[in-house]
Amino acid sequence: MKAIRRFSVRPVLPEPLRPLSELARNLRWSWHPETRELFRAVDPEAWPDTGGDPVRLLGGVSAARLESLASDGAFLRRLTTAADGLREYLTGPRWYQTAAGAAAGDGLPSAVAYFSPEFGITGALPQYSGGLGILAGDHLKTASDLGVPLIGVGLLYRHGYFRQSLSRDGWQQEQYPLLDPDELPLGLLREPGGRPCRVALALPGGRTLHAVVREARVGRVPLLLLDSDTEENEPRERQVTDRLYGGGSEHRLLQEMLLGIGGVRAVRAYCRITGHPGPEVFHTNEGHAGFLGLERVRELGEEEHGGLDFDAALEAVRAGTVFTTHTPVPAGIDRFDRELVARHFGDDGELSGVDAARVLELGRETHPGGEPGVFNMAVMGLRLAQRANGVSRLHGGVSREMFAGLWPGFDAGEVPITSVTNGVHGPTWTAPEVLRAGAGNGGAQTLPGDALWALRRTLRERLVAEVRERLYASWRQRGAAAAELGWIDGVLDPDVLTIGFARRVPSYKRLTLMLRDRERLTELLLHPERPVQIVVAGKAHPADDSGKRLVQELVRFADDPRVRHRIVFLPDYGMAMAQQLYPGCDVWLNNPLRPLEACGTSGMKAALNGCLNLSVLDGWWDEWFEPDFGWAIPTADDPATGEDRRDDLEAHALYELLEQRVTPLFYDRGPDGLPDRWIGMVRRTLADLGPKVLAGRMVEEYVRELYTPAARAHRRLGPDAARELAAWKATVRAAWPRVSVGRVEAATGGGNGGSAELGSVLSLRVRVALDRLVPEDVEVQAVAGRVDGEDRITAGRTVPLKPAGAADAEGRWPYEGELTLERTGSFGFTVRVLPSHRLLASGAELGLMAVPAEATGEEAGVLLR
Ligand SMILES: *Cc1c(COP(=O)(O)O)cnc(C)c1O
Repeated sequence: MKAIRRFSVRPVLPEPLRPLSELARNLRWSWHPETRELFRAVDPEAWPDTGGDPVRLLGGVSAARLESLASDGAFLRRLTTAADGLREYLTGPRWYQTAAGAAAGDGLPSAVAYFSPEFGITGALPQYSGGLGILAGDHLKTASDLGVPLIGVGLLYRHGYFRQSLSRDGWQQEQYPLLDPDELPLGLLREPGGRPCRVALALPGGRTLHAVVREARVGRVPLLLLDSDTEENEPRERQVTDRLYGGGSEHRLLQEMLLGIGGVRAVRAYCRITGHPGPEVFHTNEGHAGFLGLERVRELGEEEHGGLDFDAALEAVRAGTVFTTHTPVPAGIDRFDRELVARHFGDDGELSGVDAARVLELGRETHPGGEPGVFNMAVMGLRLAQRANGVSRLHGGVSREMFAGLWPGFDAGEVPITSVTNGVHGPTWTAPEVLRAGAGNGGAQTLPGDALWALRRTLRERLVAEVRERLYASWRQRGAAAAELGWIDGVLDPDVLTIGFARRVPSYKRLTLMLRDRERLTELLLHPERPVQIVVAGKAHPADDSGKRLVQELVRFADDPRVRHRIVFLPDYGMAMAQQLYPGCDVWLNNPLRPLEACGTSGMKAALNGCLNLSVLDGWWDEWFEPDFGWAIPTADDPATGEDRRDDLEAHALYELLEQRVTPLFYDRGPDGLPDRWIGMVRRTLADLGPKVLAGRMVEEYVRELYTPAARAHRRLGPDAARELAAWKATVRAAWPRVSVGRVEAATGGGNGGSAELGSVLSLRVRVALDRLVPEDVEVQAVAGRVDGEDRITAGRTVPLKPAGAADAEGRWPYEGELTLERTGSFGFTVRVLPSHRLLASGAELGLMAVPAEATGEEAGVLLR
């Protein structure tokens, strides 16, 4: 029978056990093993069935058990210790309050609001689909550990992301279990009177989108999640936060408006209610939350906030905004139909006080190849943020190339997008066994080889048990009878080299590259002396049938009785599985199409546990790979190589590495039975790579390189400065078409014609026309460097030229400077003019540049031959 209403009955904890409630509600338990052990002790029988979720555990524990614990002195002492420990963690000074504070002077932001469409904090709060969300979760946890005053902002999806299972013939099935917020580790943000705090957005046609604000505590960091499933809404609006990345375009737009605009309103409400000082910096994790900038433009237009017009408000917003781009894959970037956006920001939609034409302009694809009918969230993200970054060094470069069209005339190297390489949260992703053995945090150096090897075997053995359990459950679910499944007891072997491959299944990640030559793979799996075994997992996007076909191909291969004991596909990849999988593997395989993997973080998590990486040189691996601790799969990324041929070549290289390098090393045992060289690589991975991949390094970089400069810029851009900067930009833009560079005179000490000697000094003289601008408004630079066959300067260096007197009768200003010729070979230079202002973060910021009309030959430079 179906119930007509449902309630959550909350347990009433006896007084001495009250602290359990606080410990369960703060998600710090998800990275604090001692707290989890305490909850296990509450009910050791029930604990495994809760999936390690204290809130669920407390929801189901019997009153009798609670009574008995309430008079159990030993338990109460543990409880007091844990509660005191949490209180101290939440209130004591940490890195931000000490080391960072000392280094940054008064520059540190009072707080940073961190917006993301998904957050992966624990399997118990399934609000993520993959790497982006888990990175966001790791960012919050690490900010908490470091004491960085972050406020997380996201949406609460009632169905989260889907749960994956398989049909009998290996086709992905999706389930969307309904989450009850009362059974999740969440509270409801309430007004002082007790009424739930609400935010509302105006929708076209007089409709309203309401949301309540739920709050998760991630250690010291509050995470505000907007939830539209509330009674005030019409049924249609209730559905807005139904699921992550589901639905059509309008549904996505409404989600993103709620996240960005509603998110800012939720932050304001939170600060008003709690007395929090409020964020000086807004960080948007990928473009989905970009509308937050528009809401802040609207706020600044209000009289009490300065009454700024659009342009001035835009400057103030940009100063305090950081935008992180996460993917070079076009499908990963949200692009809306312009008309759809126009409708929602029109007179009867949201932000009616903000000029809709200006809003539309922000998302316009003005770069070559851009589509006029499209509103691009990444493009808007870049225009609303004065500081932007990619997520690995390689991805920073790829992003600068990809978005260079938005800064016309500038070389990709000058595009103002920097990079901060991702990291992972150590306490979340290091197996407790590794920490207990003392192999975490650089301890591997001193651990004897046999102990390290024993640890690796323990982890592998635990994975084997886990895989059998999951595989059994999967086959039962696929319709197999228990009696058919005896073979599962023989699946995987705790002494066989174990390779892991788990990730979402977009095509660029090439889930099935390993199947390119099935016979060769089979030989690897069944090798009589040096077999390998492979564990694979991954979800395809529900709308991506080609991804589902890849899953099916892999599942069908793994179903084959010839190899099914050596290769398995585990459905429903998620954080809980990942935490078992990475430590238990010996090798973590990653074979994306370079350079489409922006960073990749699963290999980092594997490395924290002494699992070696075997990967294409993409993302983070391109930056940190060394032959001492892993292998690089060569790429065939010459565009002339067709995609098919490229897959062949790279698969071939992968097999060869496995056959010739990886398996021999693993099975090469010394007289003591230990694979010494392998153990050496494990040690290097733990000791050298471990510290680099930690999210502490990442968050410290964000604080130093992005948050603090953004906070300073935000403070400098009060209403007056914002108006001044906006007016100045308008003047510069209006004058720029008439800014020009005249004939460049270059006098050398030696040489003549097209050549000069190394070490000689070029004296440059040039006249530049500045129209209504004055020398203070610009910087005139010589750019010099090697030139290619088409006279293009590569890896140029810039030298500022100085004004040398007053303007002539035609309003042209003389500039002078010297250039030392420091390099032999083909060399060239040119002169350019850029806008310059103390409040700009980069010379490329306006995307304006003036160069000599004829920037070739002797007119513009001298060539050294
Ligand atoms: C780390 C992680 C990811 C991201 O892994 P990539 O290497 O970036 O593909 C995806 N899903 C889960 C469950 C993870 O833990």
